[in-house]
Amino acid sequence: MKKLIEGIVDFRKNLTDEYRTLFSKLALGQKPDVLFIACSDSRVVPNLFASTNPGDLFVLRNVGNLVPSDDSPSQDSSTLATIKFSILNLNVSDIIVCGHSECGAIQEITKGVDNICCPHLKSWLKNGEESLDKVKKGLVLNPSLSFHNQVSQANVLQQMEHIAKYPFIQERLQNNKLRIHGWWFDIGQADVYCYEPSLGQFVLIDEKEAKLILERLG
Ligand SMILES: [Zn+2]
Repeated sequence: MKKLIEGIVDFRKNLTDEYRTLFSKLALGQKPDVLFIACSDSRVVPNLFASTNPGDLFVLRNVGNLVPSDDSPSQDSSTLATIKFSILNLNVSDIIVCGHSECGAIQEITKGVDNICCPHLKSWLKNGEESLDKVKKGLVLNPSLSFHNQVSQANVLQQMEHIAKYPFIQERLQNNKLRIHGWWFDIGQADVYCYEPSLGQFVLIDEKEAKLILERLG
């Protein structure tokens, strides 16, 4: 907490004219083109690893970067409201679901959600159980990863599927007004991977891969 207060003083002291101008423009409105869905984990810092500025990302964060499916019993109005706002009000063109290595939520899921005492956490993490089932049934994305990290990658795909099934999302996807991407952050290596459907695996976003992605985006 002390670090945060000192950080605010430093921020005020060191704010450049460039940032002051940016913030004064942003006060008039935001126009992010990406909804970024990530875990609440303190080690996942999208603005740092994707070098983004204020105004670039509309962010949804929760435990495990989960999005309940349309028929999930543990529906969460906050998550869905955030997604709807980004699509219907801000008209974002891309949704990124970003999982990460050593995710505490995923580790709880792999240990068995039914063993969790806290009812809210238990109910919420059930939204990731299908990811565990898929890996147990043989889904292989990267066999060199530890089991919980394999589930974490599978979970990114699972949440992408949940999002894609909502009718208001389907309509945008069918009209090519929206794209859904899967990313995965390796904390130890500080590397970001993206899911390549043609390869069926996550690929490191280096200069070569970035070029391919940018070409596809057009
Ligand atoms: Zn996490």
